[in-house]
Amino acid sequence: MISENYLNVRKKVDEACKRAGRDPKEVTLIAVSKTKPVSMIEELLPLQVVDFGENKPQELKEKYGVLPKDLHWHMIGHLQRNKVKYVIDKACMIHSLDSLRLAEAVQAEAEKHQLVMPVLVEVNMAAEESKFGLSPEEVPGFIEQVAAFPNLKISGLMTIAPFVENPEENRIHFKNLYNLFVDIKARNIDNVDMCCLSMGMTNDYEIAIEEGATMVRVGTGIFGERDYSI
Ligand SMILES: *Cc1c(COP(=O)(O)O)cnc(C)c1O
Repeated sequence: MISENYLNVRKKVDEACKRAGRDPKEVTLIAVSKTKPVSMIEELLPLQVVDFGENKPQELKEKYGVLPKDLHWHMIGHLQRNKVKYVIDKACMIHSLDSLRLAEAVQAEAEKHQLVMPVLVEVNMAAEESKFGLSPEEVPGFIEQVAAFPNLKISGLMTIAPFVENPEENRIHFKNLYNLFVDIKARNIDNVDMCCLSMGMTNDYEIAIEEGATMVRVGTGIFGERDYSI
């Protein structure tokens, strides 16, 4: 069931790439396993799925502890500074860098562990009050600042688009983020490698791919609805 869902989503990812004249190898499908048990993740391992997304540091840490060590754990949710320590040596990437204070905390922990943490800057494209992330205007200056942190590697941008009935409404946000991404890439800032554009979830990942996403984060479409009541 879950592996069927995964293969179905992967097929749609590949088809969206074709429509956009893109190589499907350019797009990483991240299976967002938050709130779901380890047994569901294990169902995907025979398919060689390695990329999983979590939004709670403790949950990422626990799942990391019991699953094979060659999986790639993407920290996709808002990260509090005091929780960086749970994920610093376990996450392959933090998608949700949204403040200078968080960047400082990640720098300190990464230095302690003598590693370089790839990070994406979260951008609030629709200026939603309820969402974290920088405004698009703040992004270039922020990246110039964080580029000076030796244990962080700015690797691209991420956005969580608004919840909308018709996913076409989000196309403009994906287009705008892609343009910002290309803009920053063209500046060739030292210690910045703009390789990843993380955008698109269950409802809108095909549109995000058509607009240039290199990472899509799909939870419900693979694992089913989440139950937050338990
Ligand atoms: C939960 C979550 C997702 C996955 O959402 P679905 O709509 O279930 O695909 C993607 N990105 C982030 C940051 C999330 O928190």
